[in-house]
Amino acid sequence: KSIEAYTKTEANTEAQQLRQTLQQYSDAYYTKDAPLVEDSVYDALYRDLQDLETAFPDIVTPDSPTQKVGGEVLPGFDKVTHTIPMLSMGDVFSFDELKAFDARLTRNVGHQLSYSTELKIDGLAISLVYENGRFVQGSTRGDGNVGEDITKNLLTIDSIPKLLPEPLSIEVRGECYMPKTAFEKLNKQREAEGKPIFANPRNAAAGSLRQLDTRVTKARQLDTFIYFITRMDTLTLQTQTEALAKLKALGFHVNPDSQLCHNIAEVITFIETNTPKRNALPYGIDGVVLKVDDLTTQQTLGNTVKVPRWEIAYKFPPEEAQTVVHDIEWTV
Ligand code: NAD
Repeated sequence: KSIEAYTKTEANTEAQQLRQTLQQYSDAYYTKDAPLVEDSVYDALYRDLQDLETAFPDIVTPDSPTQKVGGEVLPGFDKVTHTIPMLSMGDVFSFDELKAFDARLTRNVGHQLSYSTELKIDGLAISLVYENGRFVQGSTRGDGNVGEDITKNLLTIDSIPKLLPEPLSIEVRGECYMPKTAFEKLNKQREAEGKPIFANPRNAAAGSLRQLDTRVTKARQLDTFIYFITRMDTLTLQTQTEALAKLKALGFHVNPDSQLCHNIAEVITFIETNTPKRNALPYGIDGVVLKVDDLTTQQTLGNTVKVPRWEIAYKFPPEEAQTVVHDIEWTV
Protein backbone atom coordinates (compact mmCIF):
# COMPACT_ATOMS: atom_id res chain seq x y z
CA LYS A 1 0.00 0.00 0.00
CA SER A 2 1.41 3.43 -0.91
CA ILE A 3 1.96 5.99 1.86
CA GLU A 4 -0.60 8.38 0.32
CA ALA A 5 -3.34 5.78 0.88
CA TYR A 6 -2.79 5.64 4.67
CA THR A 7 -4.91 7.50 7.24
CA LYS A 8 -2.98 8.72 10.27
CA THR A 9 -4.53 6.02 12.47
CA GLU A 10 -3.55 3.30 10.02
CA ALA A 11 -0.03 4.72 9.76
CA ASN A 12 0.26 4.75 13.54
CA THR A 13 -0.84 1.12 13.88
CA GLU A 14 1.53 0.00 11.13
CA ALA A 15 4.42 2.01 12.65
CA GLN A 16 3.85 0.42 16.06
CA GLN A 17 4.03 -3.04 14.52
CA LEU A 18 7.17 -2.19 12.58
CA ARG A 19 8.83 -0.81 15.72
CA GLN A 20 8.05 -3.99 17.63
CA THR A 21 9.48 -6.20 14.88
CA LEU A 22 12.58 -4.03 14.44
CA GLN A 23 13.18 -3.99 18.19
CA GLN A 24 13.04 -7.76 18.29
CA TYR A 25 15.53 -8.00 15.40
CA SER A 26 17.80 -5.40 17.03
CA ASP A 27 17.89 -7.28 20.34
CA ALA A 28 18.99 -10.43 18.56
CA TYR A 29 21.56 -8.55 16.47
CA TYR A 30 23.11 -6.17 19.00
CA THR A 31 22.68 -7.97 22.31
CA LYS A 32 22.87 -11.64 21.36
CA ASP A 33 25.08 -11.23 18.25
CA ALA A 34 22.76 -13.69 16.51
CA PRO A 35 20.56 -11.97 13.91
CA LEU A 36 17.16 -13.43 13.08
CA VAL A 37 17.06 -11.98 9.55
CA GLU A 38 19.41 -10.67 6.85
CA ASP A 39 20.45 -7.01 7.08
CA SER A 40 18.57 -6.24 3.85
CA VAL A 41 15.30 -7.43 5.45
CA TYR A 42 15.95 -5.24 8.49
CA ASP A 43 16.90 -2.28 6.27
CA ALA A 44 13.72 -2.57 4.16
CA LEU A 45 11.44 -2.61 7.25
CA TYR A 46 13.41 0.30 8.74
CA ARG A 47 12.89 2.24 5.51
CA ASP A 48 9.11 1.52 5.64
CA LEU A 49 9.00 2.89 9.20
CA GLN A 50 11.06 5.94 8.23
CA ASP A 51 8.73 6.67 5.29
CA LEU A 52 5.61 6.42 7.50
CA GLU A 53 7.17 8.69 10.15
CA THR A 54 8.23 11.23 7.51
CA ALA A 55 4.71 11.33 6.05
CA PHE A 56 3.08 11.53 9.53
CA PRO A 57 5.60 13.30 11.83
CA ASP A 58 3.07 13.26 14.73
CA ILE A 59 3.33 9.50 15.08
CA VAL A 60 7.08 9.49 15.86
CA THR A 61 7.87 8.20 19.36
CA PRO A 62 11.17 8.93 21.19
CA ASP A 63 11.87 5.21 21.54
CA SER A 64 11.39 4.52 17.83
CA PRO A 65 14.40 2.71 16.26
CA THR A 66 14.64 5.71 13.90
CA GLN A 67 15.36 7.97 16.89
CA LYS A 68 17.99 6.02 18.80
CA VAL A 69 21.27 4.22 18.28
CA GLY A 70 20.82 0.44 18.49
CA GLY A 71 22.67 -1.59 21.11
CA GLU A 72 23.03 -1.82 24.85
CA VAL A 73 25.56 -2.75 27.50
CA LEU A 74 25.88 -6.44 28.35
CA PRO A 75 25.84 -7.43 32.03
CA GLY A 76 29.33 -8.10 33.40
CA PHE A 77 30.97 -5.13 31.67
CA ASP A 78 31.72 -1.78 33.25
CA LYS A 79 29.99 1.13 31.57
CA VAL A 80 31.78 3.94 29.76
CA THR A 81 30.00 7.22 29.16
CA HIS A 82 31.05 8.67 25.81
CA THR A 83 31.88 12.36 26.15
CA ILE A 84 31.16 12.67 22.45
CA PRO A 85 28.28 10.33 21.53
CA MET A 86 28.98 7.45 19.15
CA LEU A 87 26.25 7.88 16.61
CA SER A 88 24.80 5.69 13.89
CA MET A 89 24.95 6.64 10.20
CA GLY A 90 22.32 7.50 7.62
CA ASP A 91 22.21 5.28 4.57
CA VAL A 92 21.21 5.38 0.93
CA PHE A 93 20.68 2.54 -1.50
CA SER A 94 20.96 4.23 -4.91
CA PHE A 95 23.04 6.81 -6.77
CA ASP A 96 19.95 9.03 -7.08
CA GLU A 97 19.64 9.15 -3.28
CA LEU A 98 23.36 9.84 -3.04
CA LYS A 99 23.04 12.79 -5.43
CA ALA A 100 20.07 14.07 -3.43
CA PHE A 101 22.20 13.92 -0.25
CA ASP A 102 24.94 15.94 -1.95
CA ALA A 103 22.44 18.45 -3.36
CA ARG A 104 20.91 18.95 0.11
CA LEU A 105 24.29 19.56 1.75
CA THR A 106 25.54 21.79 -1.07
CA ARG A 107 22.38 23.93 -0.76
CA ASN A 108 22.90 24.06 2.98
CA VAL A 109 26.52 25.27 2.92
CA GLY A 110 26.31 27.26 -0.34
CA HIS A 111 29.23 25.68 -2.20
CA GLN A 112 30.37 22.40 -3.71
CA LEU A 113 31.74 19.89 -1.19
CA SER A 114 34.69 17.52 -1.24
CA TYR A 115 34.24 14.13 0.37
CA SER A 116 36.59 11.67 2.00
CA THR A 117 35.29 8.44 0.51
CA GLU A 118 36.03 5.26 2.47
CA LEU A 119 35.04 1.62 2.55
CA LYS A 120 32.36 0.76 5.08
CA ILE A 121 33.96 -1.99 7.12
CA ASP A 122 31.51 -4.59 8.37
CA GLY A 123 32.50 -4.88 12.00
CA LEU A 124 31.60 -3.01 15.14
CA ALA A 125 32.54 0.48 16.23
CA ILE A 126 35.17 0.94 18.91
CA SER A 127 36.48 3.99 20.72
CA LEU A 128 40.09 4.18 21.96
CA VAL A 129 41.28 6.74 24.50
CA TYR A 130 44.97 7.69 24.80
CA GLU A 131 46.41 9.78 27.62
CA ASN A 132 49.91 11.17 27.04
CA GLY A 133 50.34 8.68 24.24
CA ARG A 134 49.32 5.65 26.32
CA PHE A 135 46.23 3.54 25.51
CA VAL A 136 44.06 3.78 28.65
CA GLN A 137 40.50 2.85 27.73
CA GLY A 138 38.55 1.21 24.95
CA SER A 139 34.81 0.85 24.59
CA THR A 140 31.96 -0.26 22.37
CA ARG A 141 29.28 2.08 21.05
CA GLY A 142 26.49 0.63 23.21
CA ASP A 143 23.44 2.88 22.96
CA GLY A 144 25.58 5.73 21.64
CA ASN A 145 25.92 7.46 25.01
CA VAL A 146 27.01 4.57 27.21
CA GLY A 147 29.13 1.69 25.93
CA GLU A 148 30.92 -1.34 27.37
CA ASP A 149 34.44 -1.06 28.78
CA ILE A 150 36.38 -3.57 26.68
CA THR A 151 39.88 -2.23 27.41
CA LYS A 152 41.25 -5.66 28.42
CA ASN A 153 39.86 -7.26 25.28
CA LEU A 154 41.30 -4.57 23.03
CA LEU A 155 44.72 -4.96 24.66
CA THR A 156 44.85 -8.44 23.07
CA ILE A 157 44.55 -7.03 19.53
CA ASP A 158 47.95 -6.56 17.89
CA SER A 159 46.95 -3.78 15.49
CA ILE A 160 45.94 -1.41 18.32
CA PRO A 161 48.98 0.67 19.36
CA LYS A 162 49.47 0.56 23.12
CA LEU A 163 51.89 3.50 23.02
CA LEU A 164 51.83 6.27 20.43
CA PRO A 165 55.02 7.80 19.03
CA GLU A 166 53.83 11.19 20.39
CA PRO A 167 52.53 11.92 23.93
CA LEU A 168 49.05 12.86 22.69
CA SER A 169 45.81 12.78 24.69
CA ILE A 170 43.35 11.86 22.00
CA GLU A 171 40.28 9.72 21.36
CA VAL A 172 40.05 7.80 18.12
CA ARG A 173 37.29 5.69 16.65
CA GLY A 174 37.23 2.89 14.19
CA GLU A 175 35.99 -0.54 13.35
CA CYS A 176 36.95 -3.86 14.89
CA TYR A 177 36.43 -6.72 12.46
CA MET A 178 37.12 -10.40 11.99
CA PRO A 179 39.04 -11.25 8.80
CA LYS A 180 37.17 -13.66 6.49
CA THR A 181 39.71 -16.48 6.95
CA ALA A 182 39.48 -16.25 10.76
CA PHE A 183 35.68 -16.28 10.48
CA GLU A 184 35.64 -19.41 8.33
CA LYS A 185 38.08 -21.17 10.65
CA LEU A 186 36.08 -20.21 13.72
CA ASN A 187 32.79 -21.45 12.29
CA LYS A 188 34.35 -24.77 11.17
CA GLN A 189 35.73 -25.25 14.65
CA ARG A 190 32.39 -24.37 16.26
CA GLU A 191 30.56 -26.73 13.96
CA ALA A 192 32.96 -29.54 14.87
CA GLU A 193 32.34 -28.80 18.55
CA GLY A 194 28.56 -28.76 18.03
CA LYS A 195 28.33 -25.08 18.93
CA PRO A 196 26.06 -22.64 17.06
CA ILE A 197 27.89 -20.91 14.20
CA PHE A 198 28.02 -17.13 13.73
CA ALA A 199 25.81 -15.72 10.97
CA ASN A 200 28.48 -13.37 9.57
CA PRO A 201 31.90 -11.89 10.39
CA ARG A 202 30.29 -8.79 11.92
CA ASN A 203 28.39 -10.78 14.52
CA ALA A 204 31.41 -13.01 15.11
CA ALA A 205 33.57 -9.93 15.76
CA ALA A 206 30.99 -8.47 18.16
CA GLY A 207 30.63 -11.78 19.99
CA SER A 208 34.41 -12.18 20.21
CA LEU A 209 35.11 -8.71 21.51
CA ARG A 210 32.43 -8.68 24.16
CA GLN A 211 33.89 -11.62 26.09
CA LEU A 212 34.51 -11.61 29.82
CA ASP A 213 37.38 -14.07 29.25
CA THR A 214 39.95 -12.08 27.25
CA ARG A 215 41.74 -15.29 26.22
CA VAL A 216 38.75 -16.00 23.99
CA THR A 217 39.10 -12.58 22.36
CA LYS A 218 42.82 -13.10 21.84
CA ALA A 219 42.27 -16.41 20.07
CA ARG A 220 39.80 -14.88 17.61
CA GLN A 221 42.35 -12.97 15.45
CA LEU A 222 40.45 -9.68 15.39
CA ASP A 223 41.81 -6.70 13.51
CA THR A 224 41.01 -2.99 13.28
CA PHE A 225 40.71 -0.04 10.93
CA ILE A 226 40.68 3.38 12.61
CA TYR A 227 38.93 6.26 10.79
CA PHE A 228 38.18 9.17 13.14
CA ILE A 229 39.96 11.40 15.64
CA THR A 230 37.23 12.66 17.93
CA ARG A 231 39.36 14.35 20.59
CA MET A 232 42.34 16.12 19.04
CA ASP A 233 44.49 17.51 21.88
CA THR A 234 47.15 19.70 20.25
CA LEU A 235 46.60 18.41 16.73
CA THR A 236 45.50 21.06 14.26
CA LEU A 237 43.87 19.09 11.49
CA GLN A 238 41.64 20.72 8.89
CA THR A 239 40.27 17.75 7.00
CA GLN A 240 39.30 14.10 7.33
CA THR A 241 41.95 13.28 4.71
CA GLU A 242 44.60 14.82 6.98
CA ALA A 243 43.15 12.93 9.95
CA LEU A 244 43.50 9.59 8.14
CA ALA A 245 47.13 10.40 7.25
CA LYS A 246 47.84 11.37 10.87
CA LEU A 247 46.26 8.17 12.19
CA LYS A 248 48.47 6.16 9.86
CA ALA A 249 51.56 8.08 11.00
CA LEU A 250 50.62 7.34 14.62
CA GLY A 251 50.71 3.63 13.88
CA PHE A 252 47.01 2.79 13.56
CA HIS A 253 45.74 0.45 10.86
CA VAL A 254 44.03 2.74 8.36
CA ASN A 255 42.18 1.28 5.42
CA PRO A 256 44.21 1.90 2.26
CA ASP A 257 41.20 2.25 -0.06
CA SER A 258 40.08 5.78 0.66
CA GLN A 259 40.02 8.71 -1.72
CA LEU A 260 39.41 12.43 -1.61
CA CYS A 261 36.60 13.11 -4.11
CA HIS A 262 35.96 16.67 -5.26
CA ASN A 263 32.36 16.15 -6.29
CA ILE A 264 29.63 13.50 -6.22
CA ALA A 265 30.53 12.20 -9.70
CA GLU A 266 33.97 11.22 -8.39
CA VAL A 267 32.31 9.52 -5.40
CA ILE A 268 30.17 7.45 -7.76
CA THR A 269 33.24 6.45 -9.79
CA PHE A 270 34.94 5.40 -6.52
CA ILE A 271 31.93 3.23 -5.65
CA GLU A 272 31.82 1.69 -9.13
CA THR A 273 35.53 0.92 -9.03
CA ASN A 274 35.48 -0.60 -5.55
CA THR A 275 32.24 -2.63 -5.68
CA PRO A 276 33.70 -5.46 -7.83
CA LYS A 277 36.69 -5.75 -5.45
CA ARG A 278 34.41 -6.52 -2.54
CA ASN A 279 34.57 -10.31 -2.58
CA ALA A 280 38.34 -10.39 -2.95
CA LEU A 281 39.02 -8.26 0.12
CA PRO A 282 40.19 -10.23 3.18
CA TYR A 283 37.51 -8.49 5.30
CA GLY A 284 33.81 -7.73 4.84
CA ILE A 285 32.52 -4.37 3.63
CA ASP A 286 28.85 -3.50 3.28
CA GLY A 287 29.12 -0.21 1.45
CA VAL A 288 31.02 3.02 0.99
CA VAL A 289 31.01 5.93 3.44
CA LEU A 290 31.34 9.51 2.30
CA LYS A 291 32.28 12.20 4.78
CA VAL A 292 32.42 15.94 4.18
CA ASP A 293 36.20 16.38 4.13
CA ASP A 294 36.40 19.79 5.79
CA LEU A 295 36.18 19.37 9.59
CA THR A 296 34.80 22.87 10.22
CA THR A 297 31.98 22.25 7.74
CA GLN A 298 31.28 18.96 9.52
CA GLN A 299 30.77 20.89 12.75
CA THR A 300 28.56 23.46 11.06
CA LEU A 301 26.34 20.73 9.66
CA GLY A 302 26.16 18.92 13.03
CA ASN A 303 24.07 15.87 13.92
CA THR A 304 20.45 14.76 14.18
CA VAL A 305 19.49 12.77 17.31
CA LYS A 306 20.83 9.67 15.62
CA VAL A 307 23.22 10.44 12.77
CA PRO A 308 25.79 13.03 11.67
CA ARG A 309 24.43 15.20 8.83
CA TRP A 310 27.86 15.37 7.16
CA GLU A 311 28.27 11.69 6.32
CA ILE A 312 26.25 8.96 4.68
CA ALA A 313 26.69 5.30 3.83
CA TYR A 314 25.98 4.02 0.34
CA LYS A 315 24.94 0.42 1.07
CA PHE A 316 25.66 -2.37 -1.41
CA PRO A 317 22.79 -4.52 -2.62
CA PRO A 318 22.36 -7.78 -0.63
CA GLU A 319 25.24 -10.25 -0.88
CA GLU A 320 23.38 -12.98 -2.89
CA ALA A 321 23.91 -10.83 -5.99
CA GLN A 322 27.60 -11.75 -5.93
CA THR A 323 29.29 -14.94 -6.95
CA VAL A 324 32.50 -16.71 -6.05
CA VAL A 325 33.64 -16.16 -9.64
CA HIS A 326 34.61 -12.62 -8.65
CA ASP A 327 37.10 -13.94 -6.12
CA ILE A 328 38.85 -16.00 -8.73
CA GLU A 329 38.84 -13.27 -11.34
CA TRP A 330 40.21 -10.73 -8.94
CA THR A 331 42.93 -12.69 -7.25
CA VAL A 332 44.61 -14.14 -10.37
P1 NAD B 1 25.63 0.99 10.39
O1 NAD B 1 26.44 -0.15 10.86
O2 NAD B 1 24.87 0.80 9.15
O3 NAD B 1 26.58 2.28 10.18
C1 NAD B 1 27.26 2.96 11.19
C2 NAD B 1 28.55 2.29 11.53
O4 NAD B 1 29.38 2.13 10.40
C3 NAD B 1 29.43 3.08 12.47
O5 NAD B 1 28.99 2.96 13.79
C4 NAD B 1 30.76 2.41 12.24
O6 NAD B 1 30.89 1.36 13.17
C5 NAD B 1 30.65 1.78 10.87
N1 NAD B 1 31.68 2.12 9.89
C6 NAD B 1 32.31 1.21 9.09
N2 NAD B 1 33.22 1.78 8.31
C7 NAD B 1 33.22 3.11 8.61
C8 NAD B 1 33.97 4.22 8.12
N3 NAD B 1 34.89 4.09 7.17
N4 NAD B 1 33.69 5.41 8.65
C9 NAD B 1 32.75 5.56 9.62
N5 NAD B 1 32.01 4.54 10.12
C10 NAD B 1 32.23 3.32 9.61
O7 NAD B 1 24.69 1.53 11.47
P2 NAD B 1 24.24 0.87 12.81
O8 NAD B 1 23.37 1.83 13.47
O9 NAD B 1 25.41 0.32 13.54
O10 NAD B 1 23.45 -0.40 12.39
C11 NAD B 1 22.41 -0.37 11.53
C12 NAD B 1 22.61 -1.51 10.58
O11 NAD B 1 22.74 -2.73 11.33
C13 NAD B 1 21.41 -1.66 9.71
O12 NAD B 1 21.63 -1.02 8.50
C14 NAD B 1 21.27 -3.15 9.57
O13 NAD B 1 21.79 -3.54 8.32
C15 NAD B 1 22.06 -3.72 10.70
N6 NAD B 1 21.12 -4.39 11.61
C16 NAD B 1 20.72 -5.62 11.25
C17 NAD B 1 19.82 -6.31 12.04
C18 NAD B 1 19.40 -7.69 11.63
O14 NAD B 1 18.50 -8.25 12.27
N7 NAD B 1 20.00 -8.28 10.60
C19 NAD B 1 19.32 -5.72 13.21
C20 NAD B 1 19.76 -4.43 13.55
C21 NAD B 1 20.66 -3.77 12.73
